[in-house]
Amino acid sequence: MVEERNDSKKAQRSIYENVKMQFSKAADIMGLDLNICKILACTDNEIQVHFPVKMDDGRIEMFCGYRVQHNNVLGPYKGGLRYHPDVDIDDVRALATWMTWKCSLANIPFGGAKGGIKLDPFRYSLTELEHITRRFTFALGMNIGPEYDIPAPDVNTNPQIMAWIMDTYLSTMPADERNRNIHVVTGKPIASGGSLGRDKATGQGVVLTIQEWAKDHDFELKGATYTMQGFGNVGSWAGRLLKPLGSTLIAVEDHTGAIYNKEGIDPDELTAYVQEHGGILGYSKAEVIDHEGFWRTKADIFIPAALENQITAETAHWLDVKMVAEGANGPTDPEGDEILQSKGIFVIPDILCNSGGVIVSYFEWLQNKRSEFWDLEEVDGKLHKIIIKAYRKVQGTALELNTDWRTAAYVVALRRLERVYQERGIFP
Ligand code: GLU
Repeated sequence: MVEERNDSKKAQRSIYENVKMQFSKAADIMGLDLNICKILACTDNEIQVHFPVKMDDGRIEMFCGYRVQHNNVLGPYKGGLRYHPDVDIDDVRALATWMTWKCSLANIPFGGAKGGIKLDPFRYSLTELEHITRRFTFALGMNIGPEYDIPAPDVNTNPQIMAWIMDTYLSTMPADERNRNIHVVTGKPIASGGSLGRDKATGQGVVLTIQEWAKDHDFELKGATYTMQGFGNVGSWAGRLLKPLGSTLIAVEDHTGAIYNKEGIDPDELTAYVQEHGGILGYSKAEVIDHEGFWRTKADIFIPAALENQITAETAHWLDVKMVAEGANGPTDPEGDEILQSKGIFVIPDILCNSGGVIVSYFEWLQNKRSEFWDLEEVDGKLHKIIIKAYRKVQGTALELNTDWRTAAYVVALRRLERVYQERGIFP
């Protein structure tokens, strides 16, 4: 199943502008060293490749792929690859920058990167997708590597695609180096070196942060209602993990439409339906509602788990919830953020809320390097420890600086980066 999936229309301002606005707000509040501010405001490397692939009918099609490496002062570049028709260089810059903040906040030894191919993967056969993936990997060449830049799944990519990337990358290496370099990608299928728990990790992180928020606010998750945008990997896992806690999913929107059932939509059944049909539309145990009706649905929690720029000046006005848990990257634009704040809606920011995926990617990378295979209990326990530590750090910083949680999360991430730059200095 794909990591996330939603084809909503692109908003006006680029998400790179959004990241820059969020970054300057945090840099001002914490008084970030101006020299370090200059470094972090830029990406390190931007790779754009054009490559030909032979289609099933013999035609050649040209593709455009990207890998943007934002910063690696904390460790190898790390971040997903997305396959989507809207992928462009500015989006990838923003997503790479968020990865730097996310890894720094989680205190894991990675920098930030992101990449992707501009295409609609649903228009291609499996064989064509394999050839596109392999040729893209070949075009990236040594710009990725297990100790240099490590891709992972993101929107519309999955463990199978990671296995093809690994196989292609290793096939270009000398025979005696192949087996010790399988950590060139994470999010692999288990038999090919993946980690137990990676598939559900992002959704699990979302749920862990919701549980922590509930504890802090004396809020009972049993009997609570929530709505969700996007029902790919992140959304469906968050739903499946909220079910045993007694929370009820009452409305879902994805790229095919929106559905509602006040008695509840079963996340397990909907996952099976989406796996078969590619989207939520047509699921018989719920009624179809329109876009505005979805956003206006009253619930306790809203989980955006699709694409960026969804909570905007328009939709934020419609939202009638107590809390937003950002499963997607950059789902809220700065105007949307202000409106949520003025309405008193609590936001668990993306770089904290959805960090479970990259945290378990780190565990997969470690297991590969050490030739170990951890059981699920170990993975889950370690994920819990890291994400809750980050949660508490953000909470403490929000109180210290009397600011919102997004800004506080940025400050925690930036303080760590600032400290490392100050210790290491600038070459030469
Ligand atoms: N694509 C995911 C993210 O945005 C996971 C990245 C990774 O595991 O490297 O966080």
